[in-house]
Amino acid sequence: MNIPFVKAPMTGNEEKYLLESFRSNFHGGNGPFTKKCHKFMEENFLIGKALMTTSCTDALEMAAFLVDGKPGDEFIVPSYTFSSTANAFASKGMIPIFCDIRRDTLNIDENKIEELITEKTKAIVPIHYAGIPAEMTSINVISKKYGIPVVEDAAQAVNSRYRGKFAGALSDIGTFSFHATKSYSSGEGGALTLNDKKYFDRAEFLWEKGTDRSLVIQGLKNKYSWVDYGSSFLPSDILAAMLYGQFANLNSMQDHRKKIHDSYLRTFKNFKKNGLTMTYVPEHIETNYHAFWVLFEKPQQRDLFLKLSLSEHLNPYIGYIPLHSSPMGQFLGGDRFDLPITDHVASSIARLPFYLMSDKELNFACMKFKEILNIVFSEK
Ligand SMILES: *Cc1c(COP(=O)(O)O)cnc(C)c1O
Repeated sequence: MNIPFVKAPMTGNEEKYLLESFRSNFHGGNGPFTKKCHKFMEENFLIGKALMTTSCTDALEMAAFLVDGKPGDEFIVPSYTFSSTANAFASKGMIPIFCDIRRDTLNIDENKIEELITEKTKAIVPIHYAGIPAEMTSINVISKKYGIPVVEDAAQAVNSRYRGKFAGALSDIGTFSFHATKSYSSGEGGALTLNDKKYFDRAEFLWEKGTDRSLVIQGLKNKYSWVDYGSSFLPSDILAAMLYGQFANLNSMQDHRKKIHDSYLRTFKNFKKNGLTMTYVPEHIETNYHAFWVLFEKPQQRDLFLKLSLSEHLNPYIGYIPLHSSPMGQFLGGDRFDLPITDHVASSIARLPFYLMSDKELNFACMKFKEILNIVFSEK
């Protein structure tokens, strides 16, 4: 048996909607399925306004336009994230100020944000790692105190909740990913989520290539023109149809993921005595069970775990190379940041295979991982 790291999620519903969209002859952007997806996100996640994009990367680029950072301005971001979280803002000439993470959730350490704020800070950009939202109450307090917008990169946290509120509705601006490696997928896809009305109109201009077409559609104007920056951020309605097929099964997909999470937890928690820590869901959070990670005390233990897993055809993954220590991060000044927890996590974490596995695959993976950990922790 071979257990890959991820497989694109499929529920069986997608084909019906894909065909309906394909046959409808409406294949452009902002069609009937795009509108259904917007409505679904706004009503189910209680988001002010949702706009589908071709990726979370694109949604982050829209967010970077909305916060209006100029070259030399700064944004605060965890180093432990994917390149896109920083790239969107850095592409505008903004400078990443890297913040360390918490050891328990691997999210941005909300207690280390305030000391990084300067006159030039134009955005705070937390991510919700592995589907567990960052400490948004504290982050929003800082945001209010200094008047700096928060962009939550909720790429991994679609359908997660923090103190009862859904990811994507936890700050001024949020972003989702519907990439094939995420919990809900249209192959490539994403969404921008807005909760402050002041961004609504401009976001539509950016979305429609810098035109005010949205005002024409609403009947407020009879001809559209070029009014702002923008790009082609909107996906084909065919992709929205695929996503809509998954939205219809959102909760059963989540239940399936919970089963995998619970089995991993039962297997791995026996090794806490060996210093192993793992995905932790704080009491005030309802997770979407996006991912499961384990953190070793020593890099050598992690490396041996990965090596033995591969030889058994299991494919855990090393996780992120921190941005501050990657070539582009260093070019942008990442060297000057001292991020001990980020560095430790990067050297000693393993992300476990996580997708809509069959019971057989899950049982096999848990059995093998247990054998492998017994070997890892018997080594001196
Ligand atoms: C996956 C991911 C992205 C990028 O998503 P795309 O839809 O592939 O652009 C951005 N940020 C985080 C935290 C992610 O996990």
